[in-house]
Amino acid sequence: MDQVECVVIGAGVVGLAIARELAISGREVIVLEKEPLIGSETSSRNSEVIHAGIYYPTGSLKAKYCVEGKKFLYRYCAEKGVAHANCGKLIVATSVDQNDKLPAIRRKAAENGVDDLEEWPAERAIEMEPALFCTGALWSPSTGIIDSHGLMLAYQGDAEDHGAFIVLNTPFERARALAEGIVIEAGGEAPMELLARTVINSAGLFAPDVAGRIEGIDRNTVPNAYFCKGSYYTLPGRSPFSRPIYPMPHKDGLGVHVTVDLGGQCKFGPDIEWVDGIDYEVEASRADVFYDAVRRYWPAIEDGSLERGYSGIRPKIAPKEAPAADFLIQGPKDHGVSGLVNLFGMESPGLTGSAAIAGDVRKIVDAL
Ligand SMILES: Cc1cc2nc3c(=O)[nH]c(=O)nc-3n(C[C@H](O)[C@H](O)[C@H](O)COP(=O)(O)OP(=O)(O)OC[C@H]3O[C@@H](n4cnc5c(N)ncnc54)[C@H](O)[C@@H]3O)c2cc1C
Repeated sequence: MDQVECVVIGAGVVGLAIARELAISGREVIVLEKEPLIGSETSSRNSEVIHAGIYYPTGSLKAKYCVEGKKFLYRYCAEKGVAHANCGKLIVATSVDQNDKLPAIRRKAAENGVDDLEEWPAERAIEMEPALFCTGALWSPSTGIIDSHGLMLAYQGDAEDHGAFIVLNTPFERARALAEGIVIEAGGEAPMELLARTVINSAGLFAPDVAGRIEGIDRNTVPNAYFCKGSYYTLPGRSPFSRPIYPMPHKDGLGVHVTVDLGGQCKFGPDIEWVDGIDYEVEASRADVFYDAVRRYWPAIEDGSLERGYSGIRPKIAPKEAPAADFLIQGPKDHGVSGLVNLFGMESPGLTGSAAIAGDVRKIVDAL
């Protein structure tokens, strides 16, 4: 049986960042990916925003990785030529009641180490974005947009330059823990068995499923998977905005916001739809509820103007009724399988935080 030091399951942005980090630290790394291309799931189905780290609970892993990962991304993208723009974003109030909530968001951000938010009068925001209606705004200068595929290619390139192999079309099927390591069975066109000293489960939406197929794991430690779909709708033609515009957050999320991609195309979303399975089809009719929400900050939107875009699915580990869970990273002390690290619930801001997550996974692996 072939032996390898580290196996990473999943070539999404998080798995590739981990492969890069482990390979740079001098380890032998193989990444197993079930799809024919890297980043075929959540990593290519998101808003491509470099988040500032404003809203996450203070002290959470999401807050920490977002702030650390953002700083890394700006440096790394500049160095590697990954397309990105530090364009900033506006969080807009559209009523006087909402204006009163802006200082609290600013304070919350500062508690997370994001101390650069500025409260702006409506006129200043509208001067920057003339199509906008608002009664006040917060300016977040450290928000940006990024080519997520370009980032994944850069991570992959670094990992491969340090000896890592990305093996596509090769689904992890099951594993069993032995004293000398973890035996992985992978399927696909060339089924294989591999003995790995360390296994990183970075399978995104499928991470709980992968963990459940590891013989010897304490099943009580494997969270249930819940899927929360987010659909996007695009606006053909010229974008009315030059940067992301977010309405005030509400209890279920960040509201129907606008993101502008690096090509200047404007998209609205993602919305929130709890689903039972993985189906990326976008229903045209779901856009109907967007118009009223968007009209509050962009009065010129015309009914029927939005077109179906794409969708992504948030890999949740807490059900709809429960408060949003933090990222969950488990080592052997948590689940009982030596050499195994599981990553669960890697939803937003996983793209922004990818390198910081990878740094902490390396520390866990160092200590194994
Ligand atoms: C709608 C939406 C919007 C978002 N917007 C943002 C944003 O603007 N900014 C931000 O920072 N974050 C955002 N995110 C979050 C971000 O996209 C994710 O955190 C990130 O992509 C997760 O990466 P991942 O590598 O963990 O998962 P994935 O990209 O899903 O990668 C997992 C990989 O594992 C593979 N895999 C699964 N099972 C197996 C198996 N058995 N064997 C082998 N391979 C397997 C899959 O094929 C996949 O390639 C958003 C997410 C969603 C859903």
